[in-house]
Amino acid sequence: MFAFDNSYARLPQVFHRPAKPAAARAPQLIRFNHRLAETLGLDLAGADEARLAQVFSGQVIPVGAEPLAQAYAGHQFGHFNPQLGDGRALLLGEVVSSGGQRFDIQLKGSGPTAFSRRGDGMAALGPVLREYIVSEAFAALGVPATRALAAVATGEQVVRETLLPGAVFTRVAASHIRVGTFQFFAAQGDEAAIRTLADHVIDRHYPEARAAENPYLAMLSLVSERQAKLIARWLSIGFIHGVMNTDNMAISGETIDFGPCAFLDEYDPRKVFSSIDQRGRYAYANQPGIGQWNIARLAECLLPLLDADEEKATDAANAVLKDFGDVFQAAWLQAFRDKLGIAGEAEGDRTLISDLLELMHKGEADFTLAFRALSKVADGAGEAPFTALFAGREGLDDWLSRWRARLAEGGRQSAAIQAAMEAVNPALIPRNHRIEEAIAAAVYGDYSFFHRLVDALAAPYVEDPETAYLRVPPTPEERVTRTFCG
Ligand code: AMP
Ligand code: MG
Ligand code: MG
Repeated sequence: MFAFDNSYARLPQVFHRPAKPAAARAPQLIRFNHRLAETLGLDLAGADEARLAQVFSGQVIPVGAEPLAQAYAGHQFGHFNPQLGDGRALLLGEVVSSGGQRFDIQLKGSGPTAFSRRGDGMAALGPVLREYIVSEAFAALGVPATRALAAVATGEQVVRETLLPGAVFTRVAASHIRVGTFQFFAAQGDEAAIRTLADHVIDRHYPEARAAENPYLAMLSLVSERQAKLIARWLSIGFIHGVMNTDNMAISGETIDFGPCAFLDEYDPRKVFSSIDQRGRYAYANQPGIGQWNIARLAECLLPLLDADEEKATDAANAVLKDFGDVFQAAWLQAFRDKLGIAGEAEGDRTLISDLLELMHKGEADFTLAFRALSKVADGAGEAPFTALFAGREGLDDWLSRWRARLAEGGRQSAAIQAAMEAVNPALIPRNHRIEEAIAAAVYGDYSFFHRLVDALAAPYVEDPETAYLRVPPTPEERVTRTFCG
């Protein structure tokens, strides 16, 4: 089925432990991503639903797979844990896509591993469906993220606050190497392993670093740059990751580990959904600062590789951290310029953007709908649908006239501005209450709303009348205030 080529399994033994999927009583395929399977070059000849359910719940190990759990450490909410690792996931192996890109195929929720600690190694159906919905929504939004290949109900029950149906999620990633993977070896003072890992990362994700004068510094700088740009993209779609621990930050620059993640409804920069983030460490607007903090932890691991002279190594790392801020600021500014439809760069752009965000915060405007409605105002539609999203009109007319004046400077046709804005301001995002609705029905065996949601989210920039109800923000009763880990 897979043409596996397992480069991670070839790394020294300290990087991983063998893993064996748990038995599942009655695996049932919930959804399979045929289009993704095709780009990965999977051979599905003769693979019916029952067979797919067997493979993607770990009951049948495909030929060439070398199931293993990856070792990693991590800072969780700022506290270092030297030993985490894949406690409920295993890497089946790697495939090279038709485009020549290497991808991990990982089962999540497939039973305990050497790194499970007190955990059961299982995943409940809800988090599996949430990860499926959100990762495929990210793909359609054009934001780098791991992908969903399959979701299978196991027929087993898992014990959480209550008994819940179990499921296995198959995740596809450029790799599952995390900041925490480097930290695992740094904590043991294993410089040889850090170097081996850095070489692996350069070969796999940053081959351009090889040509640099200092390849490890170039790698650090590229990782930092990708993260800074990724987080700017998150903010541009109102996304809150929820658990930006260093073990949940991928070296590849993909969004990974959608645990208690959530999207903003009304704009609030201090918004937190995760039930375990009691101090708001990972609030919406804190994400860039945390991203930089995480890159600082990565830089610490790499210091011995950066320069034999400790002071020089530290200076080089600090320069990268400063760049993180600059790259983030530039990417954020550009993303929000695009959201406002403004072309070129003008002195007052940052203020224009911040003033709108402040009005949205004060007026409790829906983040997604406000930008989408503004796109229509750009081409002469009435302002009412836009202003109606705000609790009051104060300051809006003044802001709109400043915005119009700025648009006029760009010299573009209004229809072109609207089109450009609608291409970056999604009409549809995976709203928390809709995800919860899909999960609630699925727990009772009805997956139809889950499928409808995944299908609709494949076209987030289109206002399909059939899916208009999915774009509506929650009523007070539907509102989700807390999200939970799986
Ligand atoms: P996460 O919060 O999903 O990023 O996971 C943090 C750590 O806890 C990782 O090492 C996971 O593998 C581990 N973990 C989370 N849930 C479980 C579980 N049910 N069983 C075993 N390990 C788990
Ligand atoms: Mg994790
Ligand atoms: Mg507030």
